Amino acid sequence: MPTEMPPEEHDRLPEPPVSEGVPRPSAPPVRDSSSFQIASIFGIPVRLHVTFFLLLIWLAALGAGKSHPWAGLLFFLGLFACVLLHEMGHALVASRIYGVPTRDITLYPIGGVARMERTPRPRQELGIALAGPAVNVLIAGLLYGVLRAAHLPVTNWYLTGYPAHVLSSLMVANLYLAGFNLIPAFPMDGGRILRAALARTMDDLSATTIAARIGQFIAFLLGVYGFLSLNLLLMIVAAFVYFGAGQEAASFQAKTLLMGHRVREAMMREFHTLPVGATLREAADLLLASSQQDFPILHGGEAVGVLSRSALLRGIAAEGYDSYVAGVMQREFARVQPDDDLEAVLSQGPFEGPILVMANEDGEPTLVGMLTQENLIEFLTLTRLERRRPPE
Ligand code: ZN
Repeated sequence: MPTEMPPEEHDRLPEPPVSEGVPRPSAPPVRDSSSFQIASIFGIPVRLHVTFFLLLIWLAALGAGKSHPWAGLLFFLGLFACVLLHEMGHALVASRIYGVPTRDITLYPIGGVARMERTPRPRQELGIALAGPAVNVLIAGLLYGVLRAAHLPVTNWYLTGYPAHVLSSLMVANLYLAGFNLIPAFPMDGGRILRAALARTMDDLSATTIAARIGQFIAFLLGVYGFLSLNLLLMIVAAFVYFGAGQEAASFQAKTLLMGHRVREAMMREFHTLPVGATLREAADLLLASSQQDFPILHGGEAVGVLSRSALLRGIAAEGYDSYVAGVMQREFARVQPDDDLEAVLSQGPFEGPILVMANEDGEPTLVGMLTQENLIEFLTLTRLERRRPPE
């Protein structure tokens, strides 16, 4: 399981990096330690979020006192497969019709998320968003057909030892899944469908903003209802939808603002670097003396790693001030070129630590800039102001 561990060699200097000539714009493999890959379907990595185990424990606790605990397990596995098929529905429509590949699918206890390589235009999203719930309706229809054909009772939620009850429960669950996902609020599919509909009569950004506001309003109503009916699950879902909607609107707005800008416009040009042989004390001194939070680490003029504030603090806590930055620095980091498209670079994120900007000077890749979260926020603020200014 690829869980993230701090580097183990602390006192060794890094081996010289593999020379690649001109650094290509590349995104680092962001190792998300909160989920791990369980399978790969049609070349799409399927990941399971750690919170999924909470659901397993909860289900085990529910099933423990029952006479047919396996019925619950069977139902759970079936539901899991249906959520996965739902996400595959999105992924296949995205790649086959719009040519947008899926980076991965992550399964959470309350549903799945298919991450696309790039964001489709809101107008294109209609088909992709509809595909997921359509899969659930299709499964429910198939299960209904199977139950009727086999002359089995079509009952409601009723988990007993009878396989027919598991099947009919799954049928109902699929209808719930379809209905739940059609709630017109981000990050539910319904929110995307609503935005696609709005985008027919207005620009993408306004459509996103309005769809997000509607989503938050619906989430608020759901939360109030959940509170009044003491339904904890509904309250959690409402909070998830509320913050998801706000996040979607914010990230779409940022994306729109970044469009058409180059890395060189936003990058930090003046910053401190540290040699690979520096101690954590020297790094800590620099952290105090400057406003910089992330430091490129150089080895003979070549960037070999980055040291973030959090990695530095972790290193000091674990190893003390006298160990070397080489032991705690992050060896994998994103390298881009000054003329790369800013929006294209950032859409490959999220990134751990800063992105280093390398230019090819006299045939040598040279560090010319750095993109950090802080200076990107400044760039967004300034760009937003620029847009609001009336044309002269
Ligand atoms: Zn969906």
